[in-house]
Amino acid sequence: MSKESFTSAEFYKYLKNEKFMGTCCNECQEVYLPPRPICIKCSSFDMSWTELSGKGKLVSFTSITVGPSFMSEAGFDRKNPYCVGIVALKEGPQVSGQILGVNSKEPETIKIGIPLSLKIMEHGQGNNKKTWLGFNKEE
Ligand SMILES: [Zn+2]
Repeated sequence: MSKESFTSAEFYKYLKNEKFMGTCCNECQEVYLPPRPICIKCSSFDMSWTELSGKGKLVSFTSITVGPSFMSEAGFDRKNPYCVGIVALKEGPQVSGQILGVNSKEPETIKIGIPLSLKIMEHGQGNNKKTWLGFNKEE
C-alpha cells in the first residue's frame, strides 16, 4: 500500500507539470494550500489532492525592491521592483505569489480585491530552474 505524501515538494512537482494542486479533506471538503496531511477543521486524515482553479482576489500586497537571487536574475531590483501579494483563492485558501500586470513602481495604483488568475512562473534551466506562483490581473 502506497501512502501519498501531502508536502510542498509534491506541490512543486505538480506545479512543474502545470498543475496547481491543493489538498481536500474527504470528510468536510475543506481545501488546503500549502497541502496538509491532516484536516485542521475536522482532524481527518482522509485527504486527497485536488486541482485548483487558480482564480482568486488580491487580499494584500507589497512591492519588493530586494528579493531572492533568482528574482534579481529574472531582472528585478530597486529600479524595477516586483509585487508580491496574498491571494484568496476561490476554493478558500490564501497563498502568496507574484502579482503581475500591476504597476509595482506605483503601489498606490494597486487595488485590494482585484480579480486574479494563476500564471505559473519559471526562470532558469535544468536543476537551477525555479518555479513559483504568479497571478495575472484579470481584465
Ligand atoms: Zn475536514
